[in-house]
Amino acid sequence: MDEFELIERFFSRPPRSQSVVLGVGDDAALLLPTPGCELAVSVDMLVEGRHFFAGADPERLGHKALAVNLSDMAAMGATPRWALLAVALPDSDPAWLEAFARGFHALADAHAVDLVGGDTTRGPRNLCVTILGETPSGQALRRDGARTGDDIYVSGMLGDAALAVAVQGGRTMLPADALAAARLRLEMPQPRIALGIALRGVASAAIDVSDGLTGDLGHILERSEVGAVVEMGALPRSKALGAMLAGGERDLALACLLAGGDDYELVFTAAPSDARRIAEIAAKLALPLTRIGSIAERAGLVVMDERGVPLATLPHAYDHFAPTST
Ligand code: ADP
Ligand code: MG
Repeated sequence: MDEFELIERFFSRPPRSQSVVLGVGDDAALLLPTPGCELAVSVDMLVEGRHFFAGADPERLGHKALAVNLSDMAAMGATPRWALLAVALPDSDPAWLEAFARGFHALADAHAVDLVGGDTTRGPRNLCVTILGETPSGQALRRDGARTGDDIYVSGMLGDAALAVAVQGGRTMLPADALAAARLRLEMPQPRIALGIALRGVASAAIDVSDGLTGDLGHILERSEVGAVVEMGALPRSKALGAMLAGGERDLALACLLAGGDDYELVFTAAPSDARRIAEIAAKLALPLTRIGSIAERAGLVVMDERGVPLATLPHAYDHFAPTST
């Protein structure tokens, strides 16, 4: 199978949207953006050995490569429309490609996203997706709009993806069913697209949790020039993580909850007067939205423990170039 056969067989499909004037196969795709919308554009890369283990399930990898990008669209309140896929592959193993493409296309179909182009090269396995989405002009959710007194919310629950990584790294153990659930969170994150769209005009700021709550909420605080008080006890978590927190593995549980990446939930802020609207959105989407604290005037992030005592140190969110990340 040569490069062009590979592209044709696995990555070239008839466009589903009329917005695609020309898709895969030419020197560039031609797209027809919706009048009155802004384009939201973002790129994310998954590198073998860094973001996923060699030998990772290809179908789940196909899902995740797109999911992490869709999550950025969710965090902007954007409707995802078009994707580009740049891959480096060590070989053209059809079984691997078939499963990868299945995972990728299934998620693209679920969100009506057209794959309109990309690049294919031989090399150490690397998956890079560029996503383009749309928001009605002026309505995107940004990081810089949080105001003193706003409530802070998180969707779903936090920490299980990092918990799965901890199990894989031999740092803790879980019963089989809890591990399967945690691995699903790590390998098949569900981008919160519908939530992002529902939060247009409601949330004052938003971000997706890819590197860990403290770091990602920290970006909102920095951009908005505010601080925050978060109640650790309010953070939504799985039973397994809750048990570790109460039991002998408190430090690991805290690290997963506060600094665990890869959950791809949304953290957002909203005025207290919008609490009812947010409860209605949660009910409509059947997705828990939990108030975890509030925005404070004073800079910095304070996390209160279950007794209302500030944690002396906060576990650090993931940073590829921190001195301790190798
Ligand atoms: P060029 O030489 O003009 O860069 P390529 O040979 O790289 O074109 O790609 C041929 C066509 O296939 C282009 O339309 C490109 O966007 C598309 N393409 C290449 N790789 C992928 C991929 N992995 N997924 C989707 N489209 C791809
Ligand atoms: Mg090319």
